[in-house]
Amino acid sequence: DPRLKAISEAIRVVPHFPKPGIMFQDITTLLLDHKAFKDTVDIFVDRYRDMGISVVAGVEARGFMFGPSIALAIGAKFVPLRKPRKLPGEVISEAYVLEYGTDCLEMHVGAVQPGERALVIDDLVATGGTLSAAIRLLERVGAQVVECACVVGLREVKGQHGLNGKPLYILVEPR
Ligand code: 5GP
Repeated sequence: DPRLKAISEAIRVVPHFPKPGIMFQDITTLLLDHKAFKDTVDIFVDRYRDMGISVVAGVEARGFMFGPSIALAIGAKFVPLRKPRKLPGEVISEAYVLEYGTDCLEMHVGAVQPGERALVIDDLVATGGTLSAAIRLLERVGAQVVECACVVGLREVKGQHGLNGKPLYILVEPR
């Protein structure tokens, strides 16, 4: 797809952020480039529009920057998966392991019904730990996770982690 090169180049790489040794992939510069931003959303929309998906679940915070546009275009609802103590209603929680310590994602009870077909979206996948927690939340309420989608990711994540066996769709590799 000829659009992918420009999408990759619109993502700024910030060395040593947020700590030494990390090559941070900054997708805020992609959001500034109207064509690259639109192409990114369009590629996901073209892929998911006829897959019977009724839920797009976005991971806080950068999954919120792509998920709602995709949800509106494919006729699905958007469900935010949030960091702890942000959602006011009754929630279910799933912890996941970070490089140092653990974190947690929460989802409102009642946002997703059993049997719904869901897409999980985030900006970037590294170890797959965050996406795996998202998948567990959706599966706990009886939803079917059709696929996980990220703008940036390492190809190896697919094979290595498998994300509980769920397919992973990635647009570009980290630069
Ligand atoms: P994982 O759980 O797959 O190891 O890490 C993925 C999560 O960390 C995603 O929610 C993603 O937003 C965040 N993340 C890790 N590294 C980067 C990075 O270089 N750039 C961006 N934008 N997000 C990152």
